[in-house]
Parts: sequence; structure tokens; C-alpha cells
Amino acid sequence: MSLDSEIVIELIEEIAGKDVVELVELIKGKKHVSEFKIAEKLNITVNQVRNMLYRLYSHNLVTFIRKKDKKKGWYIYYWTFDQRRAHDLYLKIKKEKLGLLKKRLESETEGSYFACPSGCVRLNLENAMEYDFKCPDCGKVLEQEDNSKRIVSIEKEITEINEQLSKPYIEIPKKKPRKKPTKKKPAKRKAPKRKPSKRKTTKRKPTKKKSTKRKAPKRKPAKRKPTKKKPAKRKSRSK
Ligand SMILES: [Zn+2]
Repeated sequence: MSLDSEIVIELIEEIAGKDVVELVELIKGKKHVSEFKIAEKLNITVNQVRNMLYRLYSHNLVTFIRKKDKKKGWYIYYWTFDQRRAHDLYLKIKKEKLGLLKKRLESETEGSYFACPSGCVRLNLENAMEYDFKCPDCGKVLEQEDNSKRIVSIEKEITEINEQLSKPYIEIPKKKPRKKPTKKKPAKRKAPKRKPSKRKTTKRKPTKKKSTKRKAPKRKPAKRKPTKKKPAKRKSRSK
């Protein structure tokens, strides 16, 4: 499904009702579609079709022309779906929602709220004070509400709408700022400090200690102890 269709469906469901989606899909992209044809294709009465079309018409989403049927003497209406208007309206509604959400977010983050433990009411500080921090319905003491989850969900909604508004199809005039290629990062390779191999550490440490030990005459103690491998250390210790 194209993004274009997604937008139209979302819009129509919201402002005209789910039942109208099928009708819109039928006439979208065409011009002057007879309401009788629509009724026939959707297998509903002309009155039902008109009811749906009026819902669209009240939002200026369809235009019509009428022609007199010469044989029958009545007017037949031919309808055209206004795609451009649909997009404008979609944008308008999204932006309005965004504005409301931002206001809500502001009042949630800046204010404190008090709720009845039984769920009767939720009041801001000012109103809670008016009621002496008691539920106006049941009289229970109001509890300060932790609205952090509420805030998170509002923020999520805002993010979603911003994403919807940034889709290329909708924001035609805007060009997406492309991220500058960051190719110079590999310089970080200096960073990987690998754990020094055990051998190296053992070698380094002893060098410091041995420096003092080396001063010790190695040959003298050798006499007492026949083992030739470890004599150096013991000799140094003796001194
Ligand atoms: Zn209550």
C-alpha cells in the first residue's frame, strides 16, 4: 500500500468513518463518478452513497457536478475526490493534534496532579486545593499522582506525529537534510587497549624488582643450594 493511500485511509476513517473508506478507494483518482455507479459497485443504495458523500463533502473532500438525465428528468450527481485537499487536511489535523499534545505535555510536566484513590477525579493543584485535597465525589483524601507514565506516552505520541509529518510524500517542499558522511571516525583505532598479554606484564614487573636484586652477587649463595634455577632471589633476600 502506498503512503498516499495510507494517509487517505487514516484521514477518512477519522473524519468520515470507516465505512466511507471503500467508497473513497473506489472514486479516488477518477473524475466525475456517478453516484449510481458507486452504489452499484458497493452494492448499497444511492441514499447510503449520498450519506457517505455528504460526510466527505462537509470537509470539502469531494466536489460534484450534476447533470440532468434527459430520459428520467432528474439530476444525477457525479463526484470527484479531492486528493490535494485530503493531504492538506491530513496535515492540518496532524498539526492541530501536535499542538494539543504539546500543551498537554507542558501542563503535565509543569503541574502536579491529584487523583482520588477510587478513580473518581483527577485534579490539578489549584482545584485540589479548592476541595481541600478531598475527592468531591466520595470524600477520600486525594493522592498526588505520579504522571511520569502519562508524560512518556504523550512524548511518544508527539514523536509519532513528527515522524508522520516528516514523511517525504507529505512534506513535499522540504528536503531532508542528509547526514554528513562521517568517515574520519576510524581514527579511534588507537583506543582499543587490549589487555596486555600475561607474559608482558610478568616481564615488566620483575624488571623493576630485579634491578635491585641483580646487584646481589649471584654466585655466592649458589654454594648452599644446589638448585640452579631460583638462586638469584634467595641470595638477594639473604642480604
Ligand atoms: Zn473519589
